[in-house]
Amino acid sequence: MSTAATQPHSSSADLATVFAELNALHGADQSTDRFSPEKWEVVRRGGLTRLPFASRWGGLGEDLPGTMRVFEALGHGCRDGGLRFALCTHVVSAGVPLQRFGSPALQDRYLRSLCDGRTIGAHAISEPTGGSDALAMRTTAERHAGGYVLNGVKAFVTNGPIAGVLVVYARTSAQAGPFGITAFLVPSDIPGVHVGEPLPKMGLHGAPLSTLTLDHCEVPDTNVIGRPGSGYLVLDYVMTWEILCTFAATVGVMQHRLERCIEHARTRQQFGQPIGAFQAISNKIVDMKVAVDTARGWLYETARRVTADNDVTTHLAIAKLVASEADVASALAAVQIFGASGYIAATGLEADLRDAVAGTIYSGTSEIQRSKIARTLGLGERTRSRWSPAA
Ligand SMILES: Cc1cc2nc3c(=O)[nH]c(=O)nc-3n(C[C@H](O)[C@H](O)[C@H](O)COP(=O)(O)OP(=O)(O)OC[C@H]3O[C@@H](n4cnc5c(N)ncnc54)[C@H](O)[C@@H]3O)c2cc1C
Repeated sequence: MSTAATQPHSSSADLATVFAELNALHGADQSTDRFSPEKWEVVRRGGLTRLPFASRWGGLGEDLPGTMRVFEALGHGCRDGGLRFALCTHVVSAGVPLQRFGSPALQDRYLRSLCDGRTIGAHAISEPTGGSDALAMRTTAERHAGGYVLNGVKAFVTNGPIAGVLVVYARTSAQAGPFGITAFLVPSDIPGVHVGEPLPKMGLHGAPLSTLTLDHCEVPDTNVIGRPGSGYLVLDYVMTWEILCTFAATVGVMQHRLERCIEHARTRQQFGQPIGAFQAISNKIVDMKVAVDTARGWLYETARRVTADNDVTTHLAIAKLVASEADVASALAAVQIFGASGYIAATGLEADLRDAVAGTIYSGTSEIQRSKIARTLGLGERTRSRWSPAA
C-alpha cells in the first residue's frame, strides 16, 4: 500500500529534486559496482517504480509513451546508468507482464509490492547455451500435482541478486516450438532457487547481474503468467516495453551528453578560439544532435504504433538498433571532444561509454536487429520471432 513516505512525485520540479538527490548519492560511490539500497529508497519515494501500474495497485497509470517520457527525463537528469537500468528492468520484467497477463489472484499477491518497489523484479530468459537464440532454452517445467517443477540454469539475470520475484521462462513442451514456452512467477526465497554472486562487468555498475539455477523448484499452477504455452507472447510484449523504455532513457542520456558537449565546445579555448569553431568538432556535435533526434523519433513512433495496435516488428528493430548504436557513437565522440578530461573517470564520460556498449547486446544484439530488418527486406536467414533470430 502507498504510504506517506512513498507518495509519488508528479511534477517535473519534483522529478528534478529526485534526480538531484540521486546524483548527490552517485557522486559518493561512482567507482563501486554495488547496488545501492539508499538510491533505491529515493527511487521508490519518487514514485518511479509505480509509473505504468494501475491506481488500484498504487500505480500512476502512465501508458507506454508516458512511461517512456519519464524514463527519458531520468536519463537526462540522473547520471547513474546502473540505477536507471536496474529500475527499468524492475518495472518491465515482472510488473508489466503481471499487470497485462497475470491472474487477478497473482496480481493481488505481488503487484502492490512490485509497484511500490518493496519487492524488486527480474526476468530470466537467457541461458548459458541460448542467448540470441532464446527459444532454444533448455530450462524445463514439468507438470506435477497442482503445479510444475522447474529445472535449468539461466544466465545474465539483471537484478538477480536483489530480486524478490523473477519471471522465469521455461519449456513446458519439447514439441510445440515457440508455443512450448511458459512464463512463471518465481519468488526468490522458495526451495530450489539458487541465485549466483553478482558478476563483475564492464559498466552499468550498481545493476547487479547473476546466474539463476533452478533445481527441482516447485511452483503452483497459479504462478503461471498467462496460459501454459503463451510464454512466447508474454515475452514479445515485455521485450517491446523493455526496448522502448530502456532506450527512451538512453535518449535522455544522449541529449544530456549533447548539451554538455555544446557547452564544452563553446568554452574550451585552443589556438585562441573555442574548439567549437573547428569544423572537426562541430561536425561531431552535429552528428550527435542528428543521432539523438533520430533515435527519439523512431522510439516514440514505435510506441505510437504499439498504442494504435499496429505491427511494430520492423520499427522496433530499427528503433533499438538506431538508439543503441547512436549511444555508443555519441559517447565515444564526447570523450574525444573533452580530450584527456573525457578519459578521466571524474567527468563521467568514460562510464557512459562503458554503459553504452551494453545497449548493443541486451534486448537482442545489433547483429540480431540487422538480421530481423534484413528479413523484412526478403534477405537473410529465417527467424523465429521479432526478438529471437535463429532459424
Ligand atoms: C547488461 C546486460 C543485461 C542483461 N540482462 C538480462 C536479463 O535481465 N535477463 C536475461 O534473460 N538476459 C539478460 N541479458 C542477456 C542478453 O539478453 C544476451 O546477452 C543477448 O541475448 C545475447 O546473447 P549472448 O550474450 O548469449 O550472445 P550470443 O547469442 O552467443 O551471440 C554472440 C555473438 O554472435 C552474434 N550472433 C548470434 N546469433 C546470430 C545470428 N543469427 N546472426 C548474426 N549474429 C549472430 C551475436 O550478435 C553476438 O555478437 C543481459 C545482457 C547484458 C549485456
